[in-house]
Amino acid sequence: MDYDVVIIGAGPAGYYAAKAVSQRKRKLLLAGAEPYLPYWRPRLPEVIRTGQDPESILMSGKDWFSENGVEIQLSKMAVRIDAAQKKVQWSDGDSTSYGSLILSCGSLPNRSPFPFEGKVFPLRSYQDAMDIRQRCAAGKKAFIIGGGSLGLETAFALVKTGCHVAVSVHSYPLSRQLDSEGGKFLAARLKESGITICCGDLANYEAEIDKACVIAATGVHPDLTLAEKCGIKVSRGILVDEKMRTNLQGIYACGDIAEYNGTIPGLMSVAVKQGETAGINASGGDMVYQTVLPAPLTKVAGLTVSSFGSLKLLDDTQIYRKVSADSYAAIAVRSSKIVGAAFIGNVALGTKLKKWMEAEKGIGKAASFEEIEKLVG
Ligand SMILES: Cc1cc2nc3c(=O)[nH]c(=O)nc-3n(C[C@H](O)[C@H](O)[C@H](O)COP(=O)(O)OP(=O)(O)OC[C@H]3O[C@@H](n4cnc5c(N)ncnc54)[C@H](O)[C@@H]3O)c2cc1C
Repeated sequence: MDYDVVIIGAGPAGYYAAKAVSQRKRKLLLAGAEPYLPYWRPRLPEVIRTGQDPESILMSGKDWFSENGVEIQLSKMAVRIDAAQKKVQWSDGDSTSYGSLILSCGSLPNRSPFPFEGKVFPLRSYQDAMDIRQRCAAGKKAFIIGGGSLGLETAFALVKTGCHVAVSVHSYPLSRQLDSEGGKFLAARLKESGITICCGDLANYEAEIDKACVIAATGVHPDLTLAEKCGIKVSRGILVDEKMRTNLQGIYACGDIAEYNGTIPGLMSVAVKQGETAGINASGGDMVYQTVLPAPLTKVAGLTVSSFGSLKLLDDTQIYRKVSADSYAAIAVRSSKIVGAAFIGNVALGTKLKKWMEAEKGIGKAASFEEIEKLVG
């Protein structure tokens, strides 16, 4: 056997798996298809803005790997797994035998829903960020498809480089987190920072699209190619149990590629915890993954946004709002109970409200935003 543990995919999940394996002093190979050491993907909009080199966003410098006994091979792409022989075959013709295997191959960007003539740029890797930066520096126009946090962060970064940026959204920005009024408030703030929001059918914007660098921020999907070829059970992602085990003995999966309990959250915090769990279990330890809840706060285009629960306006839902020049708040109430809330700008009330909602406490006779605020605060 060449290695006790082989990890395929040197993103955050692979890095944290390697960290856990190295602490148990196992012979380990961490192999990644990209030419860079593991880096913080959420910092890619910063790379678009500044063009900074990959060293500035690394999770650990080169020395950390040698000092911790982690052999890392970059630009190393796994093309086949022979689960019976416990071997991985690489695109350069090498093959490696393992005791345990961890798959942390992450996601691929979804294809754009619109058939474009020219190239559509994804944003997943450092190279993607540099390609976008270079293309936008030349044309000074960008058209981003998708108004989720990734699309908006990319827009904000590009505007800061002096680029004209339009973002296309179905109905309003951050439509998964906000109600429509909150979406309008955010759209107005984005407009103030120089970002144009385009609603509705993409076909209506062909003229703008034609002249711009088109960027797809339309979600991601797990890269299941390797797993499917070797008999690992998949659904939307690789199916794993609470120890990150797949259906094949000695093979684990973690991070964006793994589907646990029907969910693939696509979050850093989940990749980190699942990576650690897979690493410990693959090297003979025993750890159960405790579901990580999404962080209640996100930063979007310089604004803090917090949301939880549901803001769906059903027949029996009342939404109470408080809006000022620089902040927006909405609380959804059903049958005298808080069922959801969203905040932009001033998010201080959010934590108290969330606790109140989770405790399933009623709001009694409170019948305005101010009355609920007084009650909860
Ligand atoms: C621009 C951007 C901003 C983001 N912002 C946030 C944020 O603010 N908060 C948050 O929680 N999450 C954010 N995310 C999501 C977060 O980065 C991911 O959830 C996280 O990177 C998942 O880690 P992973 O290791 O599972 O997969 P990945 O990070 O995708 O890493 C997988 C690695 O495996 C490699 N690989 C794939 N196939 C093979 C193969 N066959 N052989 C060898 N190597 C292979 C890939 O090249 C890649 O390097 C953001 C993502 C992006 C792209």
